[in-house]
Amino acid sequence: MSIQENIQKIQSEIPNGVLLVAVSKTKPEEAIEAAYEIGVRDFGENKVQELQQKSESLPKDINWHFIGHLQSNKVKYIAPYVHLIHAVDSYKLLETINKEALKNNRTINCLLQFHIAEEETKFGLEISEANEILKKMKENSLSNVNIVGVMGMGTNSEDETKVRNEFKNLKSIFETLKATCFSDKTDFAQISMGMSQDYDLAIEEGSTMVRIGSSIFGDRIY
Ligand SMILES: *Cc1c(COP(=O)(O)O)cnc(C)c1O
Repeated sequence: MSIQENIQKIQSEIPNGVLLVAVSKTKPEEAIEAAYEIGVRDFGENKVQELQQKSESLPKDINWHFIGHLQSNKVKYIAPYVHLIHAVDSYKLLETINKEALKNNRTINCLLQFHIAEEETKFGLEISEANEILKKMKENSLSNVNIVGVMGMGTNSEDETKVRNEFKNLKSIFETLKATCFSDKTDFAQISMGMSQDYDLAIEEGSTMVRIGSSIFGDRIY
């Protein structure tokens, strides 16, 4: 199937209110243009340099999602235009994002990444660490970052029950934060979970944003 057919199939399975982020990392600009042509405006990248190049030559109304691990010293390159940073996992990173957002006279939306999978290698916070970060954030009033939700990656596993429980856990972290730290903030509303192999489960468990790459663009060759 073509990129456009893949997107149409996936969009027919995603309910209203769940955003499809087309993960275009490693894929050429022509692939992004094919998706853009049928209305996709949200694309996910995980390398700063690659995102820089693509954002310069592709249409300006694309919403660029940074979905990878972001180093503080690279925030400045994407701060002028990035739409949403999905994987914030330290206070230092938030501080840098705030500083660069201020320089660009804008507010940058972010998600806190939680560690929900069993794999040690996956990045992300525990709830106690998130509470520390949010406390520091309040004390230092970071005016130009806006935390709009949470993000997580399930274990890469065939075991649906396990993956479903991980998504349930992320949803429950979201609900807890919403009730405690963000009770006065209506735009804390996003749960970014679900990739090609598990987005159906993620949606059933309350995802508001799915990040789908290979099911749209084909396997990645590194
Ligand atoms: C690559 C990537 C995806 C997309 O993965 P697919 O399995 O190709 O859908 C989603 N989220 C993150 C954080 C990624 O790095």
